[in-house]
Amino acid sequence: MLHAAWPSQGTATQRRPVEPILPPRKRSSDPKPFPGLTRKPPCAACEQAHEHGPQPPGCPPPRIVSTRGRPRQVDTSFHFCPKANCDYWGWVGLGNIRANGHPNGGPWRQLHCTSCGGYFQETHGTPLHGKRVVPERLVWAVGALAEGLGIRAVARVFEVDPNTVLAWLVEVADHAAAFSQYFLHDVRVTQVQLDELFALLSAVKTGEVSDAEAIQRLSRSPHWVWAAIDPVTKLLLTIDVGDRTLAMAQGFVHQVVQMLAPGCVPLFLTDGFKEYTTALLTHYGQWVQPARQRAQGPAPKPRWMPAPGLLYAQVVKTVRRRRLVRVRHRVVCGTLEAVQQVLAACGWQINTAFIERVNLSIRQHVAAVGRRVITLCKGEDGVRQQLALYHV
Ligand SMILES: [Zn+2]
Repeated sequence: MLHAAWPSQGTATQRRPVEPILPPRKRSSDPKPFPGLTRKPPCAACEQAHEHGPQPPGCPPPRIVSTRGRPRQVDTSFHFCPKANCDYWGWVGLGNIRANGHPNGGPWRQLHCTSCGGYFQETHGTPLHGKRVVPERLVWAVGALAEGLGIRAVARVFEVDPNTVLAWLVEVADHAAAFSQYFLHDVRVTQVQLDELFALLSAVKTGEVSDAEAIQRLSRSPHWVWAAIDPVTKLLLTIDVGDRTLAMAQGFVHQVVQMLAPGCVPLFLTDGFKEYTTALLTHYGQWVQPARQRAQGPAPKPRWMPAPGLLYAQVVKTVRRRRLVRVRHRVVCGTLEAVQQVLAACGWQINTAFIERVNLSIRQHVAAVGRRVITLCKGEDGVRQQLALYHV
């Protein structure tokens, strides 16, 4: 099966001698064992992470214990010094930050770093920093954006300029992305469902094109929303925008793998998009030395094979005239028994129902990805920001 799903060209191909044309054979029902790849499929994100990965932090600077004055009442253990040249930059809970009261009776506290002597507001680095707007109004406006109201609609409801709403969205989305990155790591899951859905971002109105047309038109343009969910806890692992290509599949699986705890190999469930197989194999593969077939001649070359624990199944849907006519399940890596054993813990069959439900929610909450909407986003960035908001 895997062999049939493999791209016919590219790095993964192996050379075979030309076979003589034989009369058509009856196809055997047993799936052929996966022959393995002669090269490890490259992943740009992995290589990049290898080169400029996050450096492990050095030793934390010593904890500052204040002996003078009355004990401090305000908890500043979650703030850090924002001055990049300070020794305590980025470190929390080391006692270098002191609350300094509200300057000029403003709503926000001033904080003081006793190490570098710098002063900064407690809102430093948040979307509330330097805004004259009442915090509640900003929070409600962002909440309305996250619920799927368009930018202009939010601007009308909250009586602000649309450009202001856009600026809020951009800032909050940055913050939301950082928030997800900070909190979502070392996740332990048993299953992951992956899917991609198309988004119409430019002049095409969704109601007027069929899915098939849109897919054909968008296959070449970077307008796909990729999402991954743990169906057991319904945790949305990651969400991204990109085209529907191998490179994007590689990058997306890379994101999911980064989020999982080391050594955690869940059961992956996807639709029939063939590039997932290569992408999964890139991150969950190993070199295997095949056994010698003959006593003489060169030893066979090592093959890149799926890691022993990798389980991967596809749900292949056949749609004819916009109607679902057939659903087939295909186990690509691992055995059907092993896949069913993982699913049996929840009493489920092979399915991608949960991620498909998420797709509907995304369409509901991200105005530009909706099915019959006139809110259209100008580009990929706009959708990415709205998605970051929805994710959080
Ligand atoms: Zn400092």
